[in-house]
Amino acid sequence: QVLDPEVLTIGFARRFATYKRATLLLSDKERLLRILNGPRPVQFVFAGKAHPHDVAGKDFIRQLVHFATDANCRHRMVFLEDYDMVIGRYMTQGVDVWLNTPRRPLEASGTSGMKASLNGVLNMSVLDGWWDEAYTPEVGWAIGNGEVYKDTELQDYIESSAIYDLLEHDLIPTFYDRSVDDVPREWTARMKSCIATLNPAFSMARTVKDYTESFYQPALEQHRALAADQYHAGREVAQWLGNLKNHWNTLAIGDIVANGNDTEFKVGDTMHVVVEVFLGEITPADVAVQLFEGVLDAESVISDGQPHRMMRVDDGARGKGWHQFRVDVPCLVTGRHGYTVRVVPHYKGWENTLRFGLIRWAQV
Ligand SMILES: *Cc1c(COP(=O)(O)O)cnc(C)c1O
Repeated sequence: QVLDPEVLTIGFARRFATYKRATLLLSDKERLLRILNGPRPVQFVFAGKAHPHDVAGKDFIRQLVHFATDANCRHRMVFLEDYDMVIGRYMTQGVDVWLNTPRRPLEASGTSGMKASLNGVLNMSVLDGWWDEAYTPEVGWAIGNGEVYKDTELQDYIESSAIYDLLEHDLIPTFYDRSVDDVPREWTARMKSCIATLNPAFSMARTVKDYTESFYQPALEQHRALAADQYHAGREVAQWLGNLKNHWNTLAIGDIVANGNDTEFKVGDTMHVVVEVFLGEITPADVAVQLFEGVLDAESVISDGQPHRMMRVDDGARGKGWHQFRVDVPCLVTGRHGYTVRVVPHYKGWENTLRFGLIRWAQV
């Protein structure tokens, strides 16, 4: 009595954690009912569990089940209880579209979307987790453009509207547009692209290979280097770091002077920045003084900031222990820029010295 094998079928199965926003779809019930019961209809299969103590998550399930019992959509919406790997396996193989509506940026990965794509199921998702990396128009749909709004209600409204718009103007026409032999050519082309391009990139084999080559192997080699000769190199690092930590609190950053403190730079201009830093007992070779610079976003926060190593050019004018550092940075992109200075540890041959947990930013 419920569900129709010929109808465009959308799957939504997950833990009902609130950030997954399972009820986003219900924000305009009238519009949803029109979509479910249109001349080219859509049906939904839901499944999921909430943590026993997650009252809000349980309420999401209640709202969905309540809506699905409405006489106008009972045949187009089912909620499967006891979501587990068996149900997950059937759903990620059997539906046409996998829907995911997390609140950015809370989705770590979104594994179920990858399981769907392995089966040629097209994803429609917020650009978060894996989908932020995987999405192209050839393999599925993006809900929104990856914006994060301060006003979560506004965000929910915009993104639920985007889901309805995509369904009405894109998914439904594409799915029901059939050739004479009743094949949705455009749809099947996307299924093929999805299998061909996503599966090699989003697999556990690739993940393990990346982790091994980028992290485990280098970590093992570094461990061996530090441990050789009864931890000779390891002791040296420990001693160096202990000394740095003892004096770190005495570090001070003076005024930052940039081409007469002009903030109007054009593309092609070069920004010269000079700063005096008090290192005291710390030698200049043990630290990297960096200009941290980038385009300012709407809230005047530096976005995508880049560190530029500043070079020691002279003794500081302020007296003993002070040093003068300088850097010239070409302006390559337009827009309002912001900059500041920071000091981080520097140790021969170590790239990621931020791991030492020491950083000093200029007070601005
Ligand atoms: C795949 C799967 C999950 C994880 O899905 P996400 O999209 O990462 O939230 C959870 N539960 C079951 C039963 C699954 O099959």
